[in-house]
Amino acid sequence: MRILELPVVETEVPIRGSRRRWLIGVAAITGAAAIALAALYLTDGRVRGLLNSLLNRAAHRPPNEALIRWFSDPASREALATSFDAPCPGYPFLVPSSGLVGGLPWNAAYGPYNALNPHPGIDIFGQGSPGTVPVYAAYDGFLTREADWRSAVIIRHDDPLHPGETIWTYYTHMADLNGDHSYIVERFPPGTYDVPVRQGDLLGYQGLYNGGPSAPRIGLHVHFSIVRSDRSGHYRNEAVFGNTLDPTPYLGLSLNDPEGSQYPLRCLPPPDTS
Ligand SMILES: [Zn+2]
Repeated sequence: MRILELPVVETEVPIRGSRRRWLIGVAAITGAAAIALAALYLTDGRVRGLLNSLLNRAAHRPPNEALIRWFSDPASREALATSFDAPCPGYPFLVPSSGLVGGLPWNAAYGPYNALNPHPGIDIFGQGSPGTVPVYAAYDGFLTREADWRSAVIIRHDDPLHPGETIWTYYTHMADLNGDHSYIVERFPPGTYDVPVRQGDLLGYQGLYNGGPSAPRIGLHVHFSIVRSDRSGHYRNEAVFGNTLDPTPYLGLSLNDPEGSQYPLRCLPPPDTS
């Protein structure tokens, strides 16, 4: 019996060896291709755009029709825009600016983001010229503007929905296209740390800055997101979707509905607190 079995085992050895070599070869080629693609993705805007649109199509993300209308047909803006003087009844945060809340649902594959890395927040596209559409603090807290921030501020809050936890609200694009002129109010110069602010305090005005004149043009808006803290209580990187929170239960707006069914956005019914 053993004599008969041996040749069978032996003939399998070289097959296994060549198969392993083949698999290693395939893995090496795939890995090299993935690294090359990742490098292209990071350095080439066209490759990034192409891959994003492929991923978004694969995920059946609709185009941002409301946004297209907003920019192509100014007469449509009245029906698309929202403006709130106070928080929605029963919800803690003030909607921080006026205009079209674009790119719904809020976790859409949207703009430069894709289905694997969705947009971390909401964009409010205002009516007017750069530097004229006000942006307000969504909630009481302590404002920081890092020394090299041209267009952004971040506010630390005690989380009204989870008392005792720290969250942050982030506001950006508040500068001109080149970043030469900030639209953040003088009260908050670069290098501002932990200055108390109240809900509704003026922070600045919507702008066009997106990293400089060679960055993709984004249209006048403010980007707003709710950011988690790290273990030391510092804010996490808001550009990473997983570091942000769904703003819906804070703002009381239906930000998770498919785009287009709900403009102009209205307040959700007050949450059931019973
Ligand atoms: Zn945004």
